[in-house]
Amino acid sequence: FSLIAWVLLSVIVGFAVFRWSGRTISPEYELRQALENQEFIPYIQPVVSGHLMRETGCEVLMRWAHPTMGIIPPDNFIPMAENCNLIIPMTQALMTQVRKQFAPMAQLLPKDYHFAFNITASHFRDFNLVEDCRAFINAFGDNPIKLVLELTERELLVIDEVTERLVNELHKLGVMIAIDDFGTGNSSLKYLQHIKVDALKIDKSFISKIGIDTHSVHIVDNIIDLAARLHLQTVAEGVENEEQASYLKARNVTFLQGYLYGKPVPMEDFALQFYD
Ligand code: C2E
Ligand code: CA
Ligand code: CA
Ligand code: CA
Repeated sequence: FSLIAWVLLSVIVGFAVFRWSGRTISPEYELRQALENQEFIPYIQPVVSGHLMRETGCEVLMRWAHPTMGIIPPDNFIPMAENCNLIIPMTQALMTQVRKQFAPMAQLLPKDYHFAFNITASHFRDFNLVEDCRAFINAFGDNPIKLVLELTERELLVIDEVTERLVNELHKLGVMIAIDDFGTGNSSLKYLQHIKVDALKIDKSFISKIGIDTHSVHIVDNIIDLAARLHLQTVAEGVENEEQASYLKARNVTFLQGYLYGKPVPMEDFALQFYD
């Protein structure tokens, strides 16, 4: 009997130690620590007007400036942050950093310049988002900017009276809503049916096939056509070469974004261009 008891005890103790050590290095703990240490920072990429062919806005993309591992891309930690309910405070911290950088230099920005942030579906049910947007917009005072929220579909957005009310509040503030990665999710069309969106963002997986795969190009053409019928703006993401750019310009795509115009760079470096 004592042997059995011994074995049982070791298994229990072993499991407890395993759980305990697992917790101290758990991803959730690490993310919380990183948030506290302000390790989530904004990188920014320019967005150009397809018509004017000059920079008229930008997209803010999160990075984890890890003390030992260096800069970590968002795909490696955002899904985890969403699961741990940390994405909302992380996004708030990002908006605050961008506001503090650009509001004091608002008079240097081009007229009607826009800032786009990526917003997770679960965040799109939280009314603090309205207050965060109000604070962002108000900080720019007499030199108004446009705020765009790019709605990502990694988690499915529940569309009900809560989201409808939220969207109404955001529109009252003048916030624009774009559907990100349009065409890759399975509920994009449902969003269009139920909430008032302002822009469709064509995913780079389609843009990269321009001049290569006619199948994907039909999809691009259809998204542009759908947007026109619904009176929505369009943004093409992942524009890397002139062939793609001229194809999109010829079809009156509202905004172009991609390495052809600039890669995402640290916020402070991005801000320097406006001092020229
Ligand atoms: P996304 O919103 O679709 O962003 C576009 C991604 O394509 C970015 O990757 C950007 O750096 C990259 N990209 C831009 N131009 C080009 C190009 O010409 N060629 C290629 N190959 N890539 C290009 P990134 O920064 O790694 O972000 C990946 C995804 O992480 C984003 O996809 C977005 O869904 C998510 N993400 C980034 N920041 C945030 C955030 O603050 N909050 C949330 N919820 N998600 C974020
Ligand atoms: Ca985006
Ligand atoms: Ca995308
Ligand atoms: Ca995306």
